[in-house]
Amino acid sequence: MQKGNIGVTTENIFPVIKKFLYSDHEIFLREMVSNAVDATQKIKTLADKGIFKGELGDLTVRVSLDEKNKTLTISDRGIGMTEEEIDKYINQIAFSGVNDFLNKYKDNANAIIGHFGLGFYSSFMVSNKVEIITKSYKEDAKAVKWTCDGSPAYEIEDAEKADRGSDIILHIDDDCKEFLEKARIQALLNKYCKFMPVPVAFGKKTEWKDGKQVETDKDNIINDVEPLWTKTPSTLKDEDYKKFYNELYPMQDEPLFWIHLNVDYPFNLTGILYFPRIKSNIDLQRNKIQLYCNQVFVTDQVEGIVPEFLTLLHGVIDSPDIPLNVSRSYLQSDSDVKKISTYITKKVADRLNSIFKENRKEYESKWDDLKLFINYGMLSQEDFYDRAKDFALLKDVDGKYFTFEEYKQLIKDGQTDKDGQLIYLYANNKEEEYSYIEAAKDKGYSVLLLDGQLDVPVVSMLEQKFEKSRFMRVDSDIIDRLIVKEDVKKTELDSDKADNLSAAFRSQMPKLNKVEFNIEVQALGENNMPVMITQSEYMRRMKDISRFQSGMSFYAQMPDSYSLVLNSDHQLIKNILDDETSKCNDALTPVISEIKGQQARLAALHQNQSKKKPEEITQEEKDDLSNTEKTLNEQREKKNQIIADYAKDNKIVHQLIDLALLQNGMLKGSALDAFIKRSVSLIK
Ligand code: ADP
Repeated sequence: MQKGNIGVTTENIFPVIKKFLYSDHEIFLREMVSNAVDATQKIKTLADKGIFKGELGDLTVRVSLDEKNKTLTISDRGIGMTEEEIDKYINQIAFSGVNDFLNKYKDNANAIIGHFGLGFYSSFMVSNKVEIITKSYKEDAKAVKWTCDGSPAYEIEDAEKADRGSDIILHIDDDCKEFLEKARIQALLNKYCKFMPVPVAFGKKTEWKDGKQVETDKDNIINDVEPLWTKTPSTLKDEDYKKFYNELYPMQDEPLFWIHLNVDYPFNLTGILYFPRIKSNIDLQRNKIQLYCNQVFVTDQVEGIVPEFLTLLHGVIDSPDIPLNVSRSYLQSDSDVKKISTYITKKVADRLNSIFKENRKEYESKWDDLKLFINYGMLSQEDFYDRAKDFALLKDVDGKYFTFEEYKQLIKDGQTDKDGQLIYLYANNKEEEYSYIEAAKDKGYSVLLLDGQLDVPVVSMLEQKFEKSRFMRVDSDIIDRLIVKEDVKKTELDSDKADNLSAAFRSQMPKLNKVEFNIEVQALGENNMPVMITQSEYMRRMKDISRFQSGMSFYAQMPDSYSLVLNSDHQLIKNILDDETSKCNDALTPVISEIKGQQARLAALHQNQSKKKPEEITQEEKDDLSNTEKTLNEQREKKNQIIADYAKDNKIVHQLIDLALLQNGMLKGSALDAFIKRSVSLIK
């Protein structure tokens, strides 16, 4: 028997492995099984090259549990190791500055394991003793047994082993008992080894017999040695992709599209990405892409490797070229990783573009589901926008789809305003904005339906990308002002009348929480509605954007501000004005003449005082000015009160206000009830 110490520089490794790498304990199994798989592939290669001339035989890697002896064994029939090889590969873990290294990476187990060839030593995270019984494929090789209890000391001795290959026997620590549970091991094999390229058996298959689960003599193979992404795309059918998707995500709906990635230059990468069908935000999950390295599962945290917007996709990526075992910040700055990310973006865009070109109908039918990904991509990545602008679609309220360019051509003639701006009209909700949509359509305008979760930022983005273009929601102004074709003619109503009319409506507007109304009088033609409510595009949009962006809560706090537009051309409004004039004239005339008088006086006082220096103005003059202002305000209030008293009893004023509110879904509760009762009384 020979005794020795594992490479002296590793004095500190075992405690580190045990203590610091706690969270990643389970990866030991991946490391053990992939070593077995590697050894198996090596023997196959040697056989192919004619170096190994013996029988390959059954190459299955076997994982077995012995609960009584508290061991977990991984056996292979690979190349095995000679005593010299054990010494070279297992005993000498020679790299310098081990302490520095360990300190630097102590929080990242993956960084140490694998990257520096410590894979095998991860077994000590869960074991108090590890044995290797191995026999090299080489002729006349002797079987050897290596034993180590977790201290740097090891023993090596001759052993009995009939067959070529290695048995790695892990004596599981008492505080890691979970790894002696069948279900736990099965789950880990399923997570890490599901697609390894050599068959891996975990015990035997079981079946129901006489009301009991009994073992059969068939191996329980836990992996698929030739997963779909390793196959040539041209040999695969849609069904194959759907089936594989179902294997990966058993409870998910069928995917929308998939992309088979397959490159070997300038880096190696294969994989299949799926666009999932998103029914609600709950389905929106990152970390559904699995990253493999030569069919060995590494992680499902792919940020940094796939572009951010594609982390919403599902599927697998397999690349031996991604530096898997380094920290995330390193990944993000690594230029190879950037290349991979750029490649994936390009590939995804190309594929979408070809589906769009080859089968536009199908593409359109899936657009509503697809749009979230594409919009997200365009918003988050400039180079994706440049590609996606040719196959991103806009949908109008009638369900027709257009590319950006097609839509521009469609509206160019009809929706360019007097300043040469192209106005894109849109609605967020077909039902709620129905009458505004209809008004726009009557004018011959097209209206887009923007009801997606990302449409608020998308609108801002498109306004920046498209030249001389503006997006306006259909209810953001009266139709003639949405797209101003020529300078609007001023309302013919004189300002006193317009004031009185406004005052009547203003006095009767309901007090709503965080809502402000501004009353306007406009000559909109006798065939247009008498009263309309509009909401300024700018304010509404700022409030919408504030929901997406932090630091804009100022806007979110602002009340919603609407305009109530009175159409002075409409007969009902004319009637109200006439009625108001005749009913209030007697009461208003003296007040108005008083107001006029006070206004004149105020103007004179202002003019007089403006000529003087501040210190020359006497107290008397100052009092005069403020008294005049006070009187004026009192008179104005008096005037408003007279009008309010009149309007209070005018059912038509109330009815028109309520109709406008109703049209915007703002009439509720007791106000709605009052409206219904009033309507009935008006019909009588
Ligand atoms: P890595 O696999 O990254 O090289 P490991 O620490 O896991 O690092 O293994 C070190 C070396 O030990 C391997 O490169 C291989 O030569 C040898 N080895 C480990 N396990 C086996 C095995 N089951 N059969 C043959 N050789 C093995």
